[in-house]
Parts: sequence; structure tokens; C-alpha cells
Amino acid sequence: MNFPVAPAYQNIAGQWRLLIEQTSPSAADLLKRVADQRAVRFSDLFYDTMMQDPEAAAFLGHDEVNSRLHASMQAWIREVLDLRNTADIDHLISRQRHVGMVHSRLNVKIELVLRGARLIKEALAQAILNSGPADALRVEATITGISVIDLAIEVMSAQYTVDHETAARTDEAYRSFAATMNTSLERERLRTLLFDWENQLLQEVMIARPEAHISRIGTSSFGLWIRHKATALFLGSPELGQINDIIERLDRNMVPACQRELVAHDGLGELRRLVSIIVADIKQIRYLVDAMFEHLIHLETGRDALTQLLSRRFLPTIMSREIGLSQKTGKPFCVLMIDIDYFKLINDEYGHESGDRVLQHLAGIFVSSVRSGDFVFRHGGEEFVVICVEVKAEQALKVAAKIREAVQAEKIPVKDGARVGVTVSIGIAHYDAHPDYQRLIERADRALYQAKEQGRNRVVVAT
Ligand code: GH3
Ligand code: MG
Ligand code: MG
Repeated sequence: MNFPVAPAYQNIAGQWRLLIEQTSPSAADLLKRVADQRAVRFSDLFYDTMMQDPEAAAFLGHDEVNSRLHASMQAWIREVLDLRNTADIDHLISRQRHVGMVHSRLNVKIELVLRGARLIKEALAQAILNSGPADALRVEATITGISVIDLAIEVMSAQYTVDHETAARTDEAYRSFAATMNTSLERERLRTLLFDWENQLLQEVMIARPEAHISRIGTSSFGLWIRHKATALFLGSPELGQINDIIERLDRNMVPACQRELVAHDGLGELRRLVSIIVADIKQIRYLVDAMFEHLIHLETGRDALTQLLSRRFLPTIMSREIGLSQKTGKPFCVLMIDIDYFKLINDEYGHESGDRVLQHLAGIFVSSVRSGDFVFRHGGEEFVVICVEVKAEQALKVAAKIREAVQAEKIPVKDGARVGVTVSIGIAHYDAHPDYQRLIERADRALYQAKEQGRNRVVVAT
């Protein structure tokens, strides 16, 4: 990934360029030689340091990450310590920023990176200075090597900090709002807000001072709630659309018409007619709000309160129904068992509440990764079940891979602006005509167990 060198990095790019220009060709050659010879050893040093941290070890421990990062670490050492051309400073900067982003995504602590860099610098200095007398050339190469590593780490750290401080995404806030809301309490509150606006309107009309400004429902507390919060909770609900239509009609036509009547002041007849229309509209809104909440409450009872996913108690019903359907139509279906890797670490490091937020966030990823005909359940604490309808194992494998990748790519906001990266392991079982749904679940569970055994962050299909 290439970034244009942002203004924030232009200064550092200038310093990097200057360092390269001021380094003598023979010092640059010496550095290059040492880097080529020692890249593997320096890279080992760095990752051994990382692995001392249990949290970093959790992410870096599996073979895939380990071998990939070892290779890129060696490339990094060779690249950063090559001071023989100035053409590629922008590229170098963007590479460091990318590394900073990866560290942030993996939630690698910055002090660990600094420690690793320090050890590399020490090892580099020793390697150069032990290669012969500490003459001017070796001293120059040593100082230059240390400086250029520091420059690279500076860029990484800057990027890391930016990434970690990015505000929580709006949809995440919405989701946690929706999940933590007490529905019946909220409905009562909303009814009161609507009543307040109605009351205020009637008072303003009754007192009938021509200069009085009649407040609009759209900017009232009720209107604000509908515009901002209801959108998150009742997205796509037909009632919400109707409520918005009425609000707009009131504010565009009815309320201004009342206002004009107050000023014109030709008797109460027209005013009464307008107010009675408004009151009827409010009555209609009240009805729609109730209906909207009714649907929500109805829906909620079958849903897990934290994640809003289907609750486990519906699993037998839905599984049996799918098995029956499959027997009748001959169409296959698959079960995915998903478990978050090392989830306990998140709770330990950031607290239970942050753990809950991660669960909510992942639930959103799962739902948006499957088709609308599929079912997503919260099966237990940090375990989820997805039923992919009318698919064979290989298609289910694609869905699972998509989920796994989507989770891995995400930096989930937790407390204090921190973000964490997590991974999931997934076991897949395809329906094999056995009538007992429990067996299907168990097969998926065993495949999941294998995925864990094989190093996590992977998908295994049951045989
Ligand atoms: P593995 O990779 O083997 O899955 O490791 P793990 O740590 O994810 O699994 P383990 O079974 O050791 O720990 C699961 C943790 O999930 C323990 C429990 O405290 C936590 N947990 C379960 N339910 C919830 C919940 O609703 N909220 C939060 N925050 N944590 C939960
Ligand atoms: Mg578990
Ligand atoms: Mg787990």
C-alpha cells in the first residue's frame, strides 16, 4: 500500500534524505554489507522480544504470521539500512506507515516495538564495531545505522498513534446504543416528548400573541430523537418513514399556517381547523411510534440482548425446520461454528465491557457477511452459529473465509480510544442427511476444535 507523503511526514522525509546525502559511500556500503549478513539474526532478535509479551505472542504466535513477519522483518532491515539511493524516500516512508498500521491493527504495544528496535541497534553497533578497529568509517556507519532505524520507527509510531486515536465509528456507537437501550422505558420517554410538544403548541396558539414563535416538531426533543436515534433502531421500518412524512408536513405546512393565522388574526375559525388537523397528526404519530416499538419488542424476545443476534433457544426449532426442508427439497445446507480466538485476553486487558463491545462489533460483521436468508445465532459467551441455507460445503467455506478475513481486517474500538484486532476460528459441517441436528452441531464443533488446534484464525471443514 502506498501513501502520498503527507505534510506531517515531509519534515521527516527531508531529514531522511539529508542523512542519506551526508553518508559517505563507503559507510553506506559497510552498512549494507552488515545488513545483508545479519538480517536474519536481527529479525530473530526482534521477534523474540515481541514473543515475551503474552498479548503480542497471541497474535504473532501462529506459524503463518510468524513466518510472514520474519520474512518482512528481514526485508525491512535490508531496506532501511540501504542508504545508497535517495530516490525512494517516499516509498520508504509509506512502508513505515504501513508497518505502523499493521502494529496498530494487531495492537502491538509501541514500547515493544521500541525495545525490539533498541536491541537491533545494539546488535548492529556490535556487528560493525567488532568487525575491525573503531575507525572513523565504522563510527560513521554505526551512527548512521542507528539514526536511520530511529527515523523509521518515528514514522511508524506517528502512524500507529493516529490509527489508535481515530474515533469510534458511528455505526458502532449506534449498535451499542441500540443494544443497551431499555425499550419500554424509551417508548415511554418518547411518548412524553411528543406530548410535551403538543402541549407547547397548544399553549402558544392559545396565548395567541402574534409575535410568538411556534416551535417546530422537527427541532423539538421528539423530532431530534426520531431523526437521530430512531434511524439507528428502526432502520427500514415503514412506520418510521410515515412518521418522518408527518413531521415534515407539520413543519412545512401546518405550523407555518398556524403562525400566519395568529398574525392575520381574523377570528378563531381557521386556527381551530388547523389545530385540529395538527392534533390528529400527532395522534397518528403516537400510534405509529407504538406500532414501531411493538415490532421491536416482539423481535427482541427472540434475540440475544447484547448482540441482537438470534438467541440460542431458537436453534433447535430452526435446525429441525431446515433439516425437514432439506429432506423435502434435497437442497443442502451448512452450519458454521465460530469462536473468537484468545477472547479472554481482551477481557483481561481491557475489561469485560470492552469484551462486550467486541462481541457486538463481531456480531455486526457476521450479519453483514452472510445472506439475508441465513441465520446467525449467539450460541454462548463468545461462540456463534451460522446456518447457511441452500449451500454446499465449498460455498460455505467461502462464506466462512469471508467472515474470517473481515474480522481480521477490523480494528475494533474498545475503551479509551483503544482499538483491538481479533481473529476467529470456524468449523463447518454440511448437512449429511442425519436427522439429529445435535450431531450436525457436534461435527461443526469438532471442526472448530481442529481449527483451534491447527493454530487458530482459520477455517476447517468437517469430514
Ligand atoms: P480460544 O482461542 O481457545 O477460544 O481462547 P479464548 O480465550 O477465546 O477461550 P476461553 O474459553 O479460554 O475464554 C472465553 C472467554 O470469554 C472467557 C469469558 O470470560 C469470556 N466471555 C464469555 N462470555 C462473555 C461475555 O458475554 N462478555 C465478555 N466480555 N466476555 C465473555
Ligand atoms: Mg469458546
Ligand atoms: Mg474463544
